[in-house]
Amino acid sequence: MAGKLDYLRALTYSRCLGYCEKCGRQLGENWALHHRKLKSRGGKDQIENFIALHHECHNLDTDSVHFNPSYSEDKGYMVPSWKEPSECPLTLPDGSIVILTAEGTYKYLERKGNGW
Ligand SMILES: [Zn+2]
Repeated sequence: MAGKLDYLRALTYSRCLGYCEKCGRQLGENWALHHRKLKSRGGKDQIENFIALHHECHNLDTDSVHFNPSYSEDKGYMVPSWKEPSECPLTLPDGSIVILTAEGTYKYLERKGNGW
């Protein structure tokens, strides 16, 4: 039986086509579904609030999202408690800047590179 979180996990994976939304390398089987606005800050289980990350990119490496909160807020990997994920742009690995939509797509504010 697939729960809501399984559905959101699958939707996140299909949005990024199986590539880490921080470093741009392929995710493989074992990856982290990261809450941009942490649950402890009132973040919800909704597609705009999730990004797909390697565990290294999430919280293992020294340059990971959780180790670098202010950098992560600049890039949109983290959303502060007083903002909503839908209003915080995310910087993709190719430098493009997007809003994560409620439909599970990218809305491009600025497009760079080609092919992300
Ligand atoms: Zn990564």
